[in-house]
Amino acid sequence: MLNIVLFGPPGAGKGTQSEKLIHQYQLVHLSTGDIFRANIKGGTELGNKAKQFIDQGQLVPDEITIGMLESEADKYPDAKGYIFDGFPRTPKQAEALDNFLTSKGTAISGMIALEVDEEELRTRLMIRGKDSGRIDDQDPAIIQKRIDVYKNETEPVRDFYMSQNKYTGINGIGTIEEIFGRLCTAIDAIK
Ligand code: AMP
Repeated sequence: MLNIVLFGPPGAGKGTQSEKLIHQYQLVHLSTGDIFRANIKGGTELGNKAKQFIDQGQLVPDEITIGMLESEADKYPDAKGYIFDGFPRTPKQAEALDNFLTSKGTAISGMIALEVDEEELRTRLMIRGKDSGRIDDQDPAIIQKRIDVYKNETEPVRDFYMSQNKYTGINGIGTIEEIFGRLCTAIDAIK
């Protein structure tokens, strides 16, 4: 299997690039943010629990997120591989993911990080807030909170994969096609 963690701060382009990568490599896209938003829209209990954290720019607790991700992955027993987008966001999630994949006889093939500077992220998120209507992309204070949460809670996940020699960083600035080309080069190198 080809199992990729697509990593990067909010606004780095993970969702956009995941959509292209799933077609290129026939992978299943697992975006925890998308799953939470679908649950919020559907008014589920999970959605109601997650909403209070998401609207504040905080992480949804690990217990909720890990269970949700695993049951979502289990919906695709014949998958050739997965792109994990927005997960893992804490070292605890990364460990849980390793254990989950080991129990399925597979593993993470590599983490690829989209590197984008903070100023560019703030600009992109404000534009996305206008276009998508996402509440967490419309308020500069919530945007800053998400960037800070990323630095404090999520960046250590990079070390987790670095210590396994599974980390590749790529430049996340450029056109969608340029960045997609860089991602494909990185993925082809770890396949
Ligand atoms: P995203 O669409 O990936 O930017 O995620 C939107 C929001 O969903 C985040 O700001 C978090 O509140 C929540 N979220 C998404 N993925 C996770 C995760 N792996 N762990 C905790 N919270 C998450």
